[in-house]
Amino acid sequence: VSEVVIVGAGPYGLSVAAHARAAGLQARVFGRPMESWVGHMPSGMFLKSEGWASNLSHPAGELTLEAYCQQRGLRYQYGVPIPRQTFVDYGRWFQAEAVPDVETTTVVAVRREPGGFAVELSAGEPVHAQAVVLAVGGLAFAWQPQVLAGLAPALHSHSADHHDLGGFSGRDVTVVGAGQSALESSALLAEAGASVRLVVRADRLAWHDPPRAEPRSPGRRLREPLSRLGPGWGNWVWSERPGAVRHLPAAQRRFIVANTLGPAGAWWLRDRVMGRVELMLATEVTSAAESAQGLVLTTASREGQRATVPTDHVIAATGYAVDFRRLTLLEPGLRDAVRLSHLSPVLGPNFETSVPGLYVVGLAAAATFGPVMRFVCGTGFAAQRVTKDVAGMARSRARLTPGMT
Ligand SMILES: Cc1cc2nc3c(=O)[nH]c(=O)nc-3n(C[C@H](O)[C@H](O)[C@H](O)COP(=O)(O)OP(=O)(O)OC[C@H]3O[C@@H](n4cnc5c(N)ncnc54)[C@H](O)[C@@H]3O)c2cc1C
Repeated sequence: VSEVVIVGAGPYGLSVAAHARAAGLQARVFGRPMESWVGHMPSGMFLKSEGWASNLSHPAGELTLEAYCQQRGLRYQYGVPIPRQTFVDYGRWFQAEAVPDVETTTVVAVRREPGGFAVELSAGEPVHAQAVVLAVGGLAFAWQPQVLAGLAPALHSHSADHHDLGGFSGRDVTVVGAGQSALESSALLAEAGASVRLVVRADRLAWHDPPRAEPRSPGRRLREPLSRLGPGWGNWVWSERPGAVRHLPAAQRRFIVANTLGPAGAWWLRDRVMGRVELMLATEVTSAAESAQGLVLTTASREGQRATVPTDHVIAATGYAVDFRRLTLLEPGLRDAVRLSHLSPVLGPNFETSVPGLYVVGLAAAATFGPVMRFVCGTGFAAQRVTKDVAGMARSRARLTPGMT
């Protein structure tokens, strides 16, 4: 019986594993390292977060992105965006150094059993564990507008379905959304030779400012502290004090998660979108139908103007909405036992669900600990808290059952 099984080998799973191993826990980790970043984000993409806010977490504070870039002679500088491929390679390097024995098997089912959990794998014998950490990221929660749901798969997709946008060269593509993913996908599609239109509900696009020159004056630092989520006191609190966020009323936490770092493009993306992509602002897709010519979208502007838009394909870059019931890897009895609030799991101070021994980190923990859980920079807080709790549980079990391994 393992003390802990970690499901998922993205930034959160690898960080929890690194902390658990350093604490002497018997931890097994399942999943393909950095898979979301390899297969579900477009090649040619850059990170929106700064390098210093993009570290996986190791308890010794080593294995940072900066250390990796230094070792490989790669450019690492404030204000210079990190290519997705560099981050993927960094994550794999972190994994090789901190958790070399990740098992690249998919977990197909988790159920409760006396003393813990049975974890079934796509290949091999089931594994038994005292605790399970779900570090499965956001793919299960990819969200699309209902009007697109009935379309044939060839005509519509979610932005997470794409790694290589080059296949759209010469085609007419409609992208729905206004966040970084929508904007960057549009830029990459246009650069790949597609004809791109962006449908945006808001009446304008929002862009982040370029980073200000350093060093900043003491007054400015006081008024507008820097944090890993960006400048300003709000961002600082959400980034550096996620434990305090948990004590806020649930409705306030939901508001913060929904409204912090809302849809906006990175400063370096603006010139790659403006003038190169057709913009339909203050507009929504109201229906979508297949015709002999292909796909026809109907849109409505805020002023009530309707338009018919023939297009070859529509990509919903409309983000992720946590709905814990979608985690079908949990056997139904176990899933139903997890207490939810507005479809997110209710978590204790150490990321434990209402089922003892079952932990949730990453996006699905954002409703409890705030927006930092949507980003790589939340890994340290999550990994420390989970490890402390699992280690405490393992110690008390060992005391109760001498000789147990
Ligand atoms: C387009 C895009 C750009 C982003 N840019 C940034 C950025 O610049 N900076 C930033 O901080 N954040 C960014 N994010 C958010 C980023 O995805 C998260 O911060 C980070 O990846 C979360 O790590 P994670 O481990 O929770 O999830 P993931 O990276 O998604 O990892 C979860 C892993 O679990 C695996 N898994 C799922 N189910 C199973 C199973 N049953 N068995 C085994 N394995 C399983 C998945 O395959 C995946 O590899 C971006 C997100 C998107 C979509």
